[in-house]
Amino acid sequence: MSDFVPTREAGLSRLHAFVPRALRYAEERDFDRPGQPSVSRLSPWLQRRLVTEAEACEAVRTAHPWARAEKYIQEVCWRTYWKGWLEHRPEVWRRYGDAVRRLRESPPAGYVEAIEGRTGLPGFDDWAHELVRTGWLHNHARMWFASIWIFTLRLPWELGAEFFWRHLLDGDAAANTLSWRWVAGLHTPGKTYLARADTIARFTDGRFNPVGKLATEAVPLVEPSLGAPVEPWYPPVTRNPPVGPVGLWLHPEDLCVESANLGEVAPVGVLALWSESLAVAQAWADPVVTFTQAALADGASRAAVAWSADLRVVRADDPGPAVVEWARSLGLRTVLALRPAVGPWLDAGLAVEAALDRAGIALRWYRRDWDTLLYPAAKRGFFPFWDVAARLHLPVDHGATAAPARPAAGPPRGQEAGVAGKK
Ligand SMILES: Cc1cc2nc3c(=O)[nH]c(=O)nc-3n(C[C@H](O)[C@H](O)[C@H](O)COP(=O)(O)OP(=O)(O)OC[C@H]3O[C@@H](n4cnc5c(N)ncnc54)[C@H](O)[C@@H]3O)c2cc1C
Repeated sequence: MSDFVPTREAGLSRLHAFVPRALRYAEERDFDRPGQPSVSRLSPWLQRRLVTEAEACEAVRTAHPWARAEKYIQEVCWRTYWKGWLEHRPEVWRRYGDAVRRLRESPPAGYVEAIEGRTGLPGFDDWAHELVRTGWLHNHARMWFASIWIFTLRLPWELGAEFFWRHLLDGDAAANTLSWRWVAGLHTPGKTYLARADTIARFTDGRFNPVGKLATEAVPLVEPSLGAPVEPWYPPVTRNPPVGPVGLWLHPEDLCVESANLGEVAPVGVLALWSESLAVAQAWADPVVTFTQAALADGASRAAVAWSADLRVVRADDPGPAVVEWARSLGLRTVLALRPAVGPWLDAGLAVEAALDRAGIALRWYRRDWDTLLYPAAKRGFFPFWDVAARLHLPVDHGATAAPARPAAGPPRGQEAGVAGKK
């Protein structure tokens, strides 16, 4: 049985069990060892926001000196960086989807052997099996797998990213697509990641050693220019209270809505909607579907309790008509939702918005303060982004040279537990 239990309670206990181990995270995190003692394995919960990034960072930062906590917080911030970067360049997601649809029609030679773990390459085949069996891989294994896929097997990166996307319990449109592009040399032009047998042997304690079997050079891939970045969506700084009665629509990208900055709202109903057509289009493997559906139910039941609201958990082919039907059944005038990030749930969300609009019902989007503060800094490379993100987490007594200024990124927002107000 999977030890990824899709509830907030299980995610929080995973986080708390990890906090003492975070002390050695910087030294140990690159080791891919059975049982994964070196990393938190919190990603499936963070991905659904059953546990928020703010909570994970706060737990580690308050338990350890900054010098010990920094690396973990930085890694959590990589997640936000990727998401913010893709918000500025949704074109990357569109091109990736087009390429996958095209390549799926006639996959290249060697593709089936690669996803079935029948290449004969030590490590690579094992990770292919491990991914399908468990829905998770260590970060280093993901890097090695992607590098071997692109530079040794010479397969299209999009099909490799799609293989991950179908099976990862933490599958994230931004982190997955952009990490594959980073390995391929498309994110930082000219800079690739080459997997080496000695690195693999060292960080797997000798379990795998594909010596003499891997590409010895990684020539960066190239692509047509992406054009200028676009401005992400941000909530207006001031707005009137939503017209009632209001309801809350939950999707699987944020399942801790009760801790988000919705202001003084009192939803009379909560809808957790699973879209069957979306799951089929994304070709998600059964464990991903099961995990996500259960996570959605967990998030919705907490939200319903938080606002003493009517709860409906619905599976529908087409999300638009399903949300309209629910809203009409409760006499709603406004539906509230946290806006999904670029990816399939945003597409679904925009279709829901259009369907509600046609029915004369407003959809009001929100965005967490965490994202609103940090996305504006994710336009270029990670390190300028980290300069901004680190200031949110530096302890107050960190010293004069590192005295935290309020990040200049984004408009000032309200307070969110564990984010604003932190130094
Ligand atoms: C090719 C490739 C594909 C990837 N696809 C995904 C994906 O779909 N979803 C996903 O969440 N991560 C992805 N990652 C990033 C990373 O591998 C995982 O987040 C990490 O392995 C999750 O394990 P953990 O929870 O033990 O991480 P820890 O090391 O304990 O880190 C804590 C948290 O920080 C975040 N994080 C850590 N490293 C990264 C990173 N490099 N990029 C982004 N976030 C990070 C995750 O939310 C993680 O749970 C990918 C990396 C590569 C190289």
